[in-house]
Amino acid sequence: GVIVKALSGYYYVKPLENGMAASGGEEAIQCRARGIFKKKGVTPLVGDHILYSHTENGEGMVDEILPRRSELIRPPVANVDLAVLVFSVREPDLNLQLLDKFLVHIEHSGLDTVICLTKQDLLPDEPGAEDPTAVVKALYEKIGYQVIVSSSRLGLGTDLLKERLKGQISVFSGQSGVGKSSLLNRLVPGLALETSAISMRLGRGKHTTRHVELIELEQGGFVADTPGFSQLDFLELGVEELSTCFREFASYADQCKFRGCSHTHEPGCKVIEAVEEGRVAASRYEHYVLFLTEMKDKKRRY
Ligand code: GDP
Ligand code: ZN
Repeated sequence: GVIVKALSGYYYVKPLENGMAASGGEEAIQCRARGIFKKKGVTPLVGDHILYSHTENGEGMVDEILPRRSELIRPPVANVDLAVLVFSVREPDLNLQLLDKFLVHIEHSGLDTVICLTKQDLLPDEPGAEDPTAVVKALYEKIGYQVIVSSSRLGLGTDLLKERLKGQISVFSGQSGVGKSSLLNRLVPGLALETSAISMRLGRGKHTTRHVELIELEQGGFVADTPGFSQLDFLELGVEELSTCFREFASYADQCKFRGCSHTHEPGCKVIEAVEEGRVAASRYEHYVLFLTEMKDKKRRY
């Protein structure tokens, strides 16, 4: 089974069939964990795939935790496959610097990612005018990221996203107010997360009583009801790792004249050349330089 919720010493487990949630939306089984975990200093996490047995009182017992593929700290969820980066095109305006910062963290974490550009309905539909979302979509698709344009108001993009979430454990990330809760409500029939002023940002972040829970999807798979990657500092990232988190730099960085090139001032830097020739987007490169400076400053201070 998979642990979908952990509360007051209980673990709520959904049975799995062939590694997928059993269809039919079965009730979660309330389980205790064997004492051996505590002795070994292991805590079962939401998202853990486990072996369990039924006990006499109708409850269950978590007997064994299967090896984790990944482990997120915020929210504490194991085996997350996919980070959905949610950014609105308006209210708040699209912030590419923040998007690139999120992407750095996701690349570093090794998760798969999809970028979701929400609130498309807020852009005026002017025939003949260039759609600013399309430009951003093309930029990131060229790098190799999947981009889904959506509007929770119109129901746009929901089917694509549903397809992408199928069979995965996903976490939604993004600033408050970008429409994460609204999107989740669209994706999960019957879900009624609060939106607007008292959404995920206040209701969850600050109150510690709120626990992360995995919501089961009709099509198979789970999404966390708490946003991830809220703390975007660069403390765990080495300065020399940053450029590897800009995945389109890789093929150029290999050919820089100097090993360990920081791609900022060195002669014979192929990344800078690619930026100058328009093969790497200027905005991406600017953000790289900005984050590099930020990281060096932080490291100096801590
Ligand atoms: P969260 O903080 O990221 O969970 O964002 P919410 O889902 O709470 O949405 C914040 C505000 O944006 C709410 O007032 C929503 O009604 C509004 N909103 C969400 N999605 C859309 C959308 O697709 N179009 C429009 N026009 N407004 C949206
Ligand atoms: Zn270089």
